[in-house]
Amino acid sequence: MTNTTRKFWNPMVHPGMPASHNTVIVKGDGNYVQNKEGDWLVDGVGGLWNVNVGHNRKEVKEAITAQLDELEYFQIFDGISHPRAEELSSLLIEMLQPEDMAKVMFSSGGSDAVETALKLARQYWKAVGEAQRYKFISLKQGYHGVHFGGASVNGNTVFRTNYEPMLPGCIHIDTPWLYRNPWNCEDPEELGRLAAAQLEAEIIFQGPETVAAFIAEPVQGAGGVIVPPANYWPLIREVCDKYGVLLIADEVVTGFGRSGNMFGVRGWSVAADIQCFAKGINSGYIPLGATVVNQRVAQGIESCQNFSGAVMHGYTYSGHPVACAAALASLQIVQDENLPENAAVQGASLKEQLQSALSEFSAVGEVRGKGLMIAIDLVKDKATREPIDPMDGYANAIAAVALREGAIVRPVGTKIILSPPLTLTEKEVGILVNALRKGFEETPV
Ligand code: PMP
Repeated sequence: MTNTTRKFWNPMVHPGMPASHNTVIVKGDGNYVQNKEGDWLVDGVGGLWNVNVGHNRKEVKEAITAQLDELEYFQIFDGISHPRAEELSSLLIEMLQPEDMAKVMFSSGGSDAVETALKLARQYWKAVGEAQRYKFISLKQGYHGVHFGGASVNGNTVFRTNYEPMLPGCIHIDTPWLYRNPWNCEDPEELGRLAAAQLEAEIIFQGPETVAAFIAEPVQGAGGVIVPPANYWPLIREVCDKYGVLLIADEVVTGFGRSGNMFGVRGWSVAADIQCFAKGINSGYIPLGATVVNQRVAQGIESCQNFSGAVMHGYTYSGHPVACAAALASLQIVQDENLPENAAVQGASLKEQLQSALSEFSAVGEVRGKGLMIAIDLVKDKATREPIDPMDGYANAIAAVALREGAIVRPVGTKIILSPPLTLTEKEVGILVNALRKGFEETPV
């Protein structure tokens, strides 16, 4: 069966081509989902990087039904509010204490959160009298969603080509990726310096007075789980500060524990000026996004006495009460069960076990990751690190065997990506490792 038999289009595939999975998922519970054949499978993808507290959590479902009974929906435009938006925004600012964040703009998902961040960055510069600062710099392996702004700053051209022309003034620079980088640099410290120097050179080349913001994921997710060196983010913060450029951290995946820290930037002890959240904010039970700005951005906009200070942005579903109620319950679990710590511990165990179980396979170039964000990089040749041909179906074939062995994993081009719920236990780590090992054993290169 190909996707053409369905009456909806699957995102990110050609409707006429066979999909990597032809699975119908009917149920979820904890770290598992059930397909229509009745098999329970380890959810190795955490829904889509988002089901952080696991499926079917009573606490989240009860919060949702209680909210439906109380107030299913009301807007927060024009000075109106409701308790859940107030509680959740206060909680987010409190959780983001060390980062000194000030104001939350709610939306319905990750692409919205990024779009909001880009627009607020431009608005900030207009509000403080530097309207010519409109450009965005981002990374070549970065992923920031599918709206025109996010797609324009996305690194991979596949997300842009069919929809061009994109926003003017979006520039892409190299990712600090130890495994493959244009400098052939194998030393993490040196790589961090080279990548930060490239940002500085690009800002100077563009003219600092024209650059609004640099945007990146703390750990790049969809681009292949790329973990920057230890000195990278502090150096990037320094460069941004030197030229006044805003730093936007797209925490849509890394927010709320997935990288092993409550927030991704904490892994590098830096604070961004703007952070984008979605996914793990309420574990995907109801769509929700949030963009949070620090004092600098908030004050710049709020103290503007003319129209540039008006936040002419917001969605019907900004601060949806049911989504906020789900977030409050989900974040309570994240904190009570210390899920960032579990992500760090189980993530390290999963990565190490995969590294040892898969080391003998010639197609496994590298197993890398941080917390419960893990990628297996597939190569034609371990020595040259030349990637496999993404069209040859190899990653899909491995995922198909893994599925038969009780685990859903995600083939993405030349990588297999894992992002299970943060509630993962040793038992599921074992199932994932065995399923993937079988996948490699049974799939000829
Ligand atoms: N930013 C990042 C870092 C993401 O990984 C994603 C989605 N995977 C998005 C933005 C877009 O989020 P959404 O799909 O909810 O629009």
